[in-house]
Amino acid sequence: MSRRILSLVALCLASVCAQAETLAIYLDQPLPGVDATFRDELRTLLRSTGYTLEIRNYHERKASEAFDRLMVVRLKGVCSAESLPSSHRPGPLASTQVQGNRVLPFADLYCDRTLATISGWLQNEPAARRNMLFGKALARVLAHEAYHFLAQEVGHAANGVAKSCFHTRDLLADTFTFDNNTIARMLPGVGELAPTETEEASGR
Ligand SMILES: [Zn+2]
Repeated sequence: MSRRILSLVALCLASVCAQAETLAIYLDQPLPGVDATFRDELRTLLRSTGYTLEIRNYHERKASEAFDRLMVVRLKGVCSAESLPSSHRPGPLASTQVQGNRVLPFADLYCDRTLATISGWLQNEPAARRNMLFGKALARVLAHEAYHFLAQEVGHAANGVAKSCFHTRDLLADTFTFDNNTIARMLPGVGELAPTETEEASGR
């Protein structure tokens, strides 16, 4: 079956609360300079959906590591805010692979396009704040792809991190979250697919 590419509150009601699960995200390269903010923002966004986040280096993975859910993410372009691009770079900020009705756990995160989108607002910022804002923006873009995977949903929400198009202000705002309806669809156990026929037949 051919693959295609899917582009692009912290309120927990007792009736929809689910057991927290761990989502591991394996990055194919480090994020120097922006790593701490990236982790903090992504961890905060996913905690609201019932997941504890583990971020690991894909090249240092161990066979003994086991998590409830995992995603593998390729970082595309230069993932540093040390120098800013002078022009906009058209195209999606991230994408996730889809096969049939399954959203696969493989995403690309376009660092260069994300940085180009906000670079005009970073030019006069000191280096530390520039890195903070870039790390936060990257985390929000990747959280959007995590929504597609965790909810097993190719469609989008009307508002929040799961909406189809981000404005620059969404990437730079102090706070930008998933809306409550999206959180309910991402909770552990809600977006997981039933076993395929093959898996059922083999007894896994
Ligand atoms: Zn999307």
